This record gives sequence, structure tokens and C-alpha cells, in this order.
Amino acid sequence: MNEKLAAAKSEKLAAVKGMNDILPPDSARWEWLEDKVRSLMGRYAYRNIRTPIVEPTALFVRGTGETTDIVEKEMYSFEDKLNGEPLTLRPENTPGVVRAAIQHNLTYDGGKRLYYMGPMFRHERPQRGRYRQFYQLGAEALGFAGPEVDAELMLLVHDLFAHLGLRNVRVELNSLGVPAERQAHRAALITYFEQHSELLDAEAQRRLHTNPLRILDTKNPALQALVQGAPQLLSYLGEGSLKHFDSVKALLSACGVSWSVNPRLVRGLDYYSHTVFEFLTDELGAQGALCGGGRYDGLFELLGGKPTPAVGWGMGLERVLELIKEQGQTQTEQTPDAYAVIPDAAALPRCMQVMQALRGAGVSVQMHAGAAEALGSMKSQFKKADSSGARYALIFGADELAQNSVTVKALRDGSGAQQSRSLADIAAWAATLQSTTSTFAGQTCSAGPN
Ligand code: AMP
Repeated sequence: MNEKLAAAKSEKLAAVKGMNDILPPDSARWEWLEDKVRSLMGRYAYRNIRTPIVEPTALFVRGTGETTDIVEKEMYSFEDKLNGEPLTLRPENTPGVVRAAIQHNLTYDGGKRLYYMGPMFRHERPQRGRYRQFYQLGAEALGFAGPEVDAELMLLVHDLFAHLGLRNVRVELNSLGVPAERQAHRAALITYFEQHSELLDAEAQRRLHTNPLRILDTKNPALQALVQGAPQLLSYLGEGSLKHFDSVKALLSACGVSWSVNPRLVRGLDYYSHTVFEFLTDELGAQGALCGGGRYDGLFELLGGKPTPAVGWGMGLERVLELIKEQGQTQTEQTPDAYAVIPDAAALPRCMQVMQALRGAGVSVQMHAGAAEALGSMKSQFKKADSSGARYALIFGADELAQNSVTVKALRDGSGAQQSRSLADIAAWAATLQSTTSTFAGQTCSAGPN
């Protein structure tokens, strides 16, 4: 055991910085969001893919790009203790999906539409909307070359945000053309920045010959004027690229998605081509990017597969939930329909059978659980029933059970009304215990768009 590990043995244990526990009741918001996602993905005929969280480091060096911030400084990498294999906690999932598609020859009989949801890991400085473990939803369409799939993927995001009730999200687009067009643009960029090299900061100097496109992303205010005047990729696009881009824009407009072109939206890696896009909000401070994506027609080949056109996006779910909150949608807690009050432990076998039957009929029942030697007084059990939020208490008293019945007491309507219900025919009254709707975020989840 190394020294740090030995010292840590006596420390109070807490989650790793930048990695959050998601606890009830907040986890209900996540489940609600995940349900919405699954249902919408089904409507667009995207199917779920689950790849490992740990991948060979080389996958990201090749697939995310050696000169990206992610690979240069943000990966959680380590060596396998047994064979020394370099491994990494996935910082994004497009490379993993493409690796799996190549490994299993997924596109052998045509294109595939896939989606995933899961944790990603980046060693960034934690702040609001930026975490070291965060959840991404992603969709990837593999084996489709046409602009209609680029548009479909953006429409999917637009539709999801509409179903979540989000407002004021804008869409920015750009086209990166094809590699030859980018090379011509890259050469023009290098010449331009070389002509103004005295104005470049150290980072821009470093990137000038490794990845000059990334200089366009600079946050340095002193470089903004220079960047504004730089040659634009759009003016280097040929007929085919312009046609692809125009089709994407026209299809989006036809489906009611507003967009604007941002010529500075770039990805500095050669396997990208044609469409790139971002969904942005101004309501989350500095971390306004909700979703980013684009076409990556060169990635399959780069990872050792056959040339396969592909396009996809990734979305930060923490940011989406944060925006829902920011826009004033409030949360309703998940509560059980009924709470089982059990005066005497001798009743437990019968009582647990009844609870199973109720759950089988769709009723959510929370069982009272006491100390090792006793279940607790009726008073304390009713107190717990009340704080559970349940709308009914089920009282499994000895007298009731002797008559093959249970007392159902209303807890929330102010009446305190009690009714005796027969255990001989649970199905006849189980439905009366169930809430007809469950609400979250001010919306009714069981009705309307879901
Ligand atoms: P990227 O893979 O960098 O294009 O990111 C796709 C989306 O994931 C972004 O638009 C964000 O919404 C989200 N995202 C990226 N990095 C983080 C992070 N460190 N914490 C939370 N969300 C993130």
C-alpha cells in the first residue's frame, strides 16, 4: 500500500472532487429525464448501445485527437495492474461507439441509429455545469452520408428540448467541408496568423502549426479582433460541401427549427467533415453549451474500420436539468401510494403477502420497518406514514386480519376516513389507492408529450 493510501485510511471518506452523488428526491428528476429520452429515441427509431466505461487509452488518443484539451490534459488514465495496458475512463463516447461498431461489424447490413446515456470523466476545474464525472446523452447515426440524417439528429435534440419544456435554446451551425477544403483553409490560416505573429499569445503560438483552427476558439480578449479578421472556412467550401450544408439548413427550416450560422464553430480534427452544430443557452453563465455534435466521416477509417460516413452529438444532462430548474420548473417528490402500518410482527407474513399482491396490481407500497426487536408503537408508525408522503395508511391489525381484511385510512385529504377492505379480492380496490397522475417539474408526466 502506498503512503497516500495509508494516510487516507484514517481520513473521513467523501466523494471525489467534481464527482457528485445524485440523491433522492433529486434522482427522481434524472429518472424523469431518462424516461423522456428513451421514449423519444424510440420514436426516432434510435436504439440503445452500452459500451464499457474503461477503454484502451489509444482509442481516445486516436479518436478524440492528440491535440485536444481532453487528450492533452483531462483524461483519467492508468495502467492495468496486471499487464501494464494503458487504460482510460471514457471522456466522451463517440470513439467507444465507433470502436464497438467496427469490432462487431454493426453496419454490415446498412446504417445504424444508436443512442447512449452514461457517465463520462474529464479532469477539468469543477464549477457550475462543469464536473469531473458528468452524464452525457449521445446519439450517433452510423453509415449514413446524406444531409437528411444531420438534420434528423438536430431535430431530435430540438424535439427533446421541446418535450422537456425548455425555452430560449439557440442552434448554431457551421460546415467544415471535406479534408481538401480544410487543408486549403488551414494553409491560409497559418499564413494569416504568421503575418500577425507578434499579436499571438503563447498558446496560439504553440497551436499555429499543430492545430491552427483551435486559435479561432481562443478566449483571450486581446486576440478577438485578429480572429474576427481571419480567413473563413466557408469561403473555401466547394460545390458539394455547400450543397450538403444548404440541404441541412433547408430541412431544419422546413421542420420549424431556427438556426444561425456561426463561422467560428470549428473542430480541429481531420476526421470531421461537413456539418457541425451546437445547442446553446445564455441562462447558465459560462457553461452555456448544452449539446454539441457533427459529422465525422473519417473516424471509422482512423480507428481501423472501413470508410463509413457518420454523424452524432453529445449532450450534458446536468446542464439540461440545471436549465429546467433555472427556467422555474419545480420538482414534485415521488411518494408511495400507501404505507403499511403493522402493529404486531406476528402479522408480517400475511401482511407482506398482501403488499406483494398490491404491488403486483400497480400500487406503490412502503412497508413499515422497525428496530430489531420491535416494529414500534402505532403512534410512531403513523408518524412515519405521514412523513413518507403516502396518501393512505394500510393498517394490518390482528382483528382486521382475523376477518381477512385491512383498514385503509386516508392521510392527505383531511378527512381521516377509514374503510375496511377485503383481502379476498384485492384487485377490486387496489386501483383506488393509485395516484392517477404523477407530476414532475410542473408537468403531468402521464399525459401530453412524453
Ligand atoms: P463535448 O463532448 O465536449 O462536445 O461535450 C458535449 C456536451 O457535454 C457539452 O455540450 C456539455 O453539455 C457537456 N459537457 C462537456 N464537458 C462537461 C463537463 N465537464 N461537465 C458537464 N457537462 C459537460
